[in-house]
Amino acid sequence: MEEAVIAVAIEDRVDFMYRDLSGLGKPTKFSLTIPEDTDYCAEIHRLIDELFRKLVRSLAASPVALFNRIGSVVVSVPGVVKDHRSLLQIPLWNSTAAETPYFDFAEELCGIAQGLIKAEGKTWSAPDRAKFRGRVFVVNDATACAAFEDSRRKDEKPDFIYLKVHNGINVGIVQDSYDGTAVSAKAHPEAGHGLALLHKLDYEAGFKGVCPFHDRCYEGMIAAHSLYARIVDTRSPVFNGWKRRLDELQAQELCGQALDNALLDYVLGEDGRPAAAGGDGVDLISHYVSQLAYHMSLLAPKHIVIGGRMARSQVISAVRQKMVKFANNYPQRDELTSTGVTRHVVAGHAAKSEKDTIEVQGALAIAVLRAKAKPGETTRPNLVIVR
Ligand SMILES: [Zn+2]
Repeated sequence: MEEAVIAVAIEDRVDFMYRDLSGLGKPTKFSLTIPEDTDYCAEIHRLIDELFRKLVRSLAASPVALFNRIGSVVVSVPGVVKDHRSLLQIPLWNSTAAETPYFDFAEELCGIAQGLIKAEGKTWSAPDRAKFRGRVFVVNDATACAAFEDSRRKDEKPDFIYLKVHNGINVGIVQDSYDGTAVSAKAHPEAGHGLALLHKLDYEAGFKGVCPFHDRCYEGMIAAHSLYARIVDTRSPVFNGWKRRLDELQAQELCGQALDNALLDYVLGEDGRPAAAGGDGVDLISHYVSQLAYHMSLLAPKHIVIGGRMARSQVISAVRQKMVKFANNYPQRDELTSTGVTRHVVAGHAAKSEKDTIEVQGALAIAVLRAKAKPGETTRPNLVIVR
């Protein structure tokens, strides 16, 4: 068994965890914010470099000894991932999304580690470098969230689809495998880009969504970014009401995630509380989430788990009601009846204090498994072992 693992999660921050597997100590954690309107890939490189340096300093370790102890590095990233190692497309909500990146995490992380070793005047042998590079494994953020959820649910036979409703929407799938492990059978689904039926408010306002590729896909209709686009571009009285609140929040100099959260609190209401803006926001968001949840439910998983920034209890309740309406008694399964749906569609297990770090905790759970696995056990294509 290897001695330590690293987990990295990229959202609007880069979260970092290091865990020594030889003891029971808590993981070492760091977090750095990605500045807005910067070159996304260049910033990721710079921030991971800084995080690796922080780790070396905090452990007072020799870089070559430290990186040779790493049994697994798991990176969670939003966007399109190829071969569990490269980022092909970055999320649409980033302002530099039009650029086509090609960020090979295995090469980049290996290069950063080698730079630190060189700076100490040491050399890193080619076999050790190749071993580290081979241990870098990339998943998309919804899969990391699903892995976190599995670590908390501990179902005897896991079978759920996790809907991450956050900056955008995507799904992670966890199922029981033939050999007793739990796996995410499709590592990088992009179900958030399925096409949506418009909500009445959007239809009346002429709002067509913000996805540069599909306009009105689920992602294009409910990314946090889409709320701003509605407010700026439409003459809807409802969206104009939201604009007044946005102006107030901006006058308080809120920006980034703090601004998103405050606007969502107004539009959706805090968890379990009615929204100050009235019921339109919950109806709008749940209209889109319920369509995707309904389609996922037709694949017949035992549970649909809804997590992420917009997964407030009032949104989840509205999603359940709409799914039952969509089903309209066919298929006549308990999951899509008005009582059965409350057991079928559930909130994620993350406590309020954990909701901000689900991705890095999910990546850490996968990293520990990969470091402990026997050779060959973690290499099946298109499977991410999450338990
Ligand atoms: Zn799209």
